[in-house]
Amino acid sequence: MLEKNIKDQPPIDYQALVDAVLDDASNYRGHGDVAAYLPALAQVNPNKLGIALAAGDGNVYVAGDADEPFSMQSISTIFTLSLTFSHVGGALWNHVGREPAGAPFNALVQLEEEKGKPRNPLINSGAIVVCDQLIGRDTADEAVDEILDFLRERSGDESIDIDQNVVMSESTAGSLNRSLAHFLAAWGNLTNPVEDVLSVWFRQCAIRMSCRQLARAGLYLAFDGMDPITKAEVCLPSRSRRINALMLTSGHYDNSGDFAFRIGLPGKSGSGGGILATIPGIGAVAVWSPGLNAARTSLAGAVALEKLVERTGWSVFV
Ligand code: GLN
Repeated sequence: MLEKNIKDQPPIDYQALVDAVLDDASNYRGHGDVAAYLPALAQVNPNKLGIALAAGDGNVYVAGDADEPFSMQSISTIFTLSLTFSHVGGALWNHVGREPAGAPFNALVQLEEEKGKPRNPLINSGAIVVCDQLIGRDTADEAVDEILDFLRERSGDESIDIDQNVVMSESTAGSLNRSLAHFLAAWGNLTNPVEDVLSVWFRQCAIRMSCRQLARAGLYLAFDGMDPITKAEVCLPSRSRRINALMLTSGHYDNSGDFAFRIGLPGKSGSGGGILATIPGIGAVAVWSPGLNAARTSLAGAVALEKLVERTGWSVFV
C-alpha cells in the first residue's frame, strides 16, 4: 500500500478499492456499442469489464476481466510517442500539433483545413505521423519490432503480441485511415510510403494487452519517465510530463474535455474499450469494457475511473 502525500488521507487498501470500483461500474456492463466498424472487434463480448491498478511498489491489484488481452487500438500511441520522442525529440512538433482536436478521432476535414498537420499525436492522423517518424530510416517491420520489444519490456511480459485478425480488419476496413495517410502525404507530411506507415499503424493498433499488462507498462508515465520498479529511465522527465499533458488535453478525441472534467487524470482511450490513466506519483490504472460512448471511449471504463477518483480523491487537480 502507498499513500499520496496528502496529510489527512488514510491509507488505502488497493485490492478493496479495485473490487469496489468494479462493483460500482458493473451496472454499466454492456452499455454503449462495441467498435463494430472493425469486424474483428464486433465479435468481442460487450459484457467484459476489468480493472488493474499498478502501484509504484510493483504490486498490481486487479478485478474482473483484468487478465484477458484486448485490442489496444490507439492506446498504443502513448507508447509509440515515447519511442518517437526519443528518436526525433522536439522536431516532432514540425509535423504534428499539440492542441485538442474537438473533432472525431478520424476527422478528415480538419486535416484538410489545417494543411496536413494533425492537431495532436493522439488522434488517428497524428498517430500516423508518429508512426512515420518512428520508422525514420528503418523499415516498417523494424519499427513494429521496436514497439513490441518496448511493450514487452515495460510490462515484463514476453507474451504480448499482435492479433492478426485485427490487423486484417484494420486493413480491409481502413479506407478512412488510408485517406488520412494520403492527405498527410499530399501535404508532404510523410517521409515513408503510405502503405509502410499504415502497416505500422495497423499492427500497432492490433496489439493485444490485458489491463494488468497495460497498467504495468504505463507506470513510468506516473513517475516522471522512470520505471519505479526496475529504475529504468524510460523517457526524460520533461517528455513524460508532456505526454501526460497531451493525455489530459487530447487523450479521448472529442470527449477529452468531458473526461478531464469527470475524472481529472491523464488518460488515453482506445476503440477496443480500454483506457489507460496515470495517477502521478501513485501508479497507473487500466480499465477495459468494450461498450463505447458516442465519442468511442469505453462507457463502463470511464465510469470505473470516475468512481476510482471519487473514492480516492486522486484527481491531478487536488
Ligand atoms: N485503428 C483504429 C481505427 O480504427 C484506431 C481507433 C482508435 O482507437 N482511435 O481507426
